[in-house]
Amino acid sequence: MLMTQYGYLLMQSMHFLIKGGNISFSNDSRLAALRGGSLHLDALNIFNGGNLLRQNILQVNMTGVTGKVKFNPDGNLIHPAYDIINVIGNGIRRIGYWSNYSGLSVVPPETLYSRPPNRSSSSQKLHGVIWPGQTAQKPRGWVYPENGRHLRIAVPSRVSYCEFVSQVPGTDKFAGYCIDVFTAAINLLPYAVPYKLIPYGDGVNNPSCTELVRLITAGVYDAAIGDIAIITNRTKMVDFTQPYIESGLVVVAPVKKRNSSAWAFLQPFTGQMWSVTALFFIIVGAVVWILEHRLNDDFRGPPRRQLITILWFSFSTWFFAHRENTISTLGRFVLFIWLFVVLIINSSYTASLTSILTVQQIFSPIEGIESLISSKDPIGYQQGSFARDYLVNELGIHESRLVSLKMPEDYAKALKDGPHRGGVAAVVDERAYIELFLSARCEFSIVGQQFTKNGWGFAFPRDSPLAVDLSTAILKLSENGDLQRIHDKWLMRSACSLQGTKLEVDRLDLKSFWGLYLMCGIACLFALFINVLQMVRQFSQYNSLEVASSGRSSTSARLQTFLSFADEKEQEVKSRSKRRRLEMASYRNETMDGYSSKRQDIESPPDESPHASNEA
Ligand code: GLU
Repeated sequence: MLMTQYGYLLMQSMHFLIKGGNISFSNDSRLAALRGGSLHLDALNIFNGGNLLRQNILQVNMTGVTGKVKFNPDGNLIHPAYDIINVIGNGIRRIGYWSNYSGLSVVPPETLYSRPPNRSSSSQKLHGVIWPGQTAQKPRGWVYPENGRHLRIAVPSRVSYCEFVSQVPGTDKFAGYCIDVFTAAINLLPYAVPYKLIPYGDGVNNPSCTELVRLITAGVYDAAIGDIAIITNRTKMVDFTQPYIESGLVVVAPVKKRNSSAWAFLQPFTGQMWSVTALFFIIVGAVVWILEHRLNDDFRGPPRRQLITILWFSFSTWFFAHRENTISTLGRFVLFIWLFVVLIINSSYTASLTSILTVQQIFSPIEGIESLISSKDPIGYQQGSFARDYLVNELGIHESRLVSLKMPEDYAKALKDGPHRGGVAAVVDERAYIELFLSARCEFSIVGQQFTKNGWGFAFPRDSPLAVDLSTAILKLSENGDLQRIHDKWLMRSACSLQGTKLEVDRLDLKSFWGLYLMCGIACLFALFINVLQMVRQFSQYNSLEVASSGRSSTSARLQTFLSFADEKEQEVKSRSKRRRLEMASYRNETMDGYSSKRQDIESPPDESPHASNEA
């Protein structure tokens, strides 16, 4: 457009000169001085009316096709303006204007000259551009791939954990989490990338991803996609995209639920705490006794009874079941403080015991990678995984301890067998596989912390622009939630049901309380035993008197007497045997008296028999 205006001006000027009839050319001495050069500039003439022509041009003041044409004293156009056009095939489309007054705009600049100039970025607008390929998406400025060749992208042919990537049997297609992520990412690129997926591996064993990456540097493949961990060795050979899943190394080991012990009721408190608590019960009992015994009949009596009262009173406060009245103010004060202490101790004990008995406690001899390294037991790893090199080179584990495992079933069997039956103590593998493995196997668990931070990415040759663009696409997938949706589609499994296990533990069973019942039973037996001993001792005394008085001594008669004796109130038995003893004593006295009187008066026989007196 500018050229058109200048051409128009030039024609006007020429016309003006021609009208004056004064067009002449002459040699320039400066050009003549350049003689000898290969350009032969000395042969050129210069136009003598040049200055005049320039002045004429600068004096132009007219309205052209695009508006006013006028120059300022510096020779610059006043308000130069251009149309901005979008060339589409053979056609054009105006998408806006540019002027040095208002910059870019979608309205003609002439309409803006009357307004104050506005160069703010929000006012710099153009209509949308239609780019080659009839797309409104801004192109990157390069075309991929060159020469119309398809990209050869290698995909590991996995034989286990096929949810991540595997070849669809009987086809040349691939499916899995990694494939879906790749497809979604490549669809986000602003240009088409023709590619061909090529299986890598023998289909029997899991292939080595490090070897696959090496084949990219060797030029066998243009890229590799799949469950390829981004690790130092590999980043030295190829460029990786941003990781699309986190997957560090973890240790998996068999776990057992720890059964609560029979003495779990002792666990809430330490030995020291139990001792101090018991000591305080006695101290408080003694203090209350000192404060009460001069005033309170409940705390008086024979020393033995008072000692029992002290112990009974203080220990019954544990259950707030003390019956003895406290009547002194100081006694009540001490008791109030003590009852508050007991309340806190009691509730802490209850809470602690509840958590000990109900929280599921998991136990494994392997506690993490440190205890695994220090043990001498075999360790499983996934066939083809970088984990083997990591365990040997970074953690210094001897190769003879490492056992290659292929399928998840192999993991489970080796872990179940354990190190003593040809299995392994633990398996070291990436978290992504292990989460899948554990989803259906509650008898195993990740122990300790994840000890490496890795992720999986797609591998491209060094400086490949595709690695950068796919990274951006992966970040976009992650931000818009598509990555999570793909994850859930392939890898969300119903986690092993902890709910059922927990319910089982919540129901307290006899196992946790047999210690208490045993104690109570022993106390009962002991008390019964003492009671029987006392009863037998009393009975032997009582029976000797009965036999002496009644003369019955058969076994059945003795058993009958014992049973009726056991049924009687102790107080009654005691008072009766006391009476018997007195009667016996008086009978003996009488007999002795009678015998001495017989000896004195042998002719006169006695009037009454001792039995008659007894029966009376
Ligand atoms: N994610 C593993 C690695 O990057 C591959 C595991 C396998 O294919 O066995 O080494």
